[in-house]
Amino acid sequence: MPEEPEVETARRLIADLALGRRIVGVDDADTFVCRPHSPGELRAALTGRSLIAAHRRGKTMWCETSGLDGPGADPGLGPTLGIHLGMSGRIVVTSPDGWVAEGGDRPGRDAQPRKAAWDRFTLEFADGGRMALFDKRRLGRILLDPDIDALGPDAAEVTPAQFRALITKGTIAVKARLLDQSKIAGIGNLLADEILWQAKIPPATPVSRLQRKDVDRLYRALRTVLAGAMADGGGAHTGDVIAARRPGGSCPRCGAEMRHGTVGGRSTWWCSREQAAWPAALPRVWPAA
Ligand SMILES: [Zn+2]
Repeated sequence: MPEEPEVETARRLIADLALGRRIVGVDDADTFVCRPHSPGELRAALTGRSLIAAHRRGKTMWCETSGLDGPGADPGLGPTLGIHLGMSGRIVVTSPDGWVAEGGDRPGRDAQPRKAAWDRFTLEFADGGRMALFDKRRLGRILLDPDIDALGPDAAEVTPAQFRALITKGTIAVKARLLDQSKIAGIGNLLADEILWQAKIPPATPVSRLQRKDVDRLYRALRTVLAGAMADGGGAHTGDVIAARRPGGSCPRCGAEMRHGTVGGRSTWWCSREQAAWPAALPRVWPAA
């Protein structure tokens, strides 16, 4: 997963090299990376405009775009172009004479040769250069007018106190809460399973049932799992329990059978022994306030 400093290199690359260049073509055919937009929607929205500023919060970037030139054209600002690098995406900017610069996740084994098919979204500029989201694993995202204010604090930055407050409110299943990007931004399905397994907490546990020590254990697991995902560059797929997320899989810690179900609307795996559902009648003793 690109860490924030790496996302910042991508933002700076856009700010330094891609602003003010008129967009004459947009390849938005990848309907997964560009979801929920339909093919051509981004092209129609961006063609004729320029990127005029590049911003970032956590791992989400967004670019302001210019109004359209020409007689009778709307002179105001265009839509905002949201860019998320996903787990291993990079921004590649090409100059008019073909010089290439990259920013974002560290180049891995996919660095060379760069398959054109891994350019998931491309802006073609009038000067002959281009800007592309290069993303072999296809976990990046392009979105018009992203709701930046709807994002919670980034998972890698959330403080223990913020985490406690965000996690424990209400009665929703703890896994669903971890996946709620408006509470904590950045935890996906695999990371959530890994974090809950590390913390030995049943995924369907209502958050109102979590005691202080459970929340603290969950926070420590969050930090450990994120650090691991970042350190080896492999993203969420490198977690300890990920390989056991399959029929017949066994817990890599205690050897018990892995269970499968749907929690928070997502496919979920947990250890049948260490993450067995908690008894229903324990009183809530925390938070006291
Ligand atoms: Zn186990």
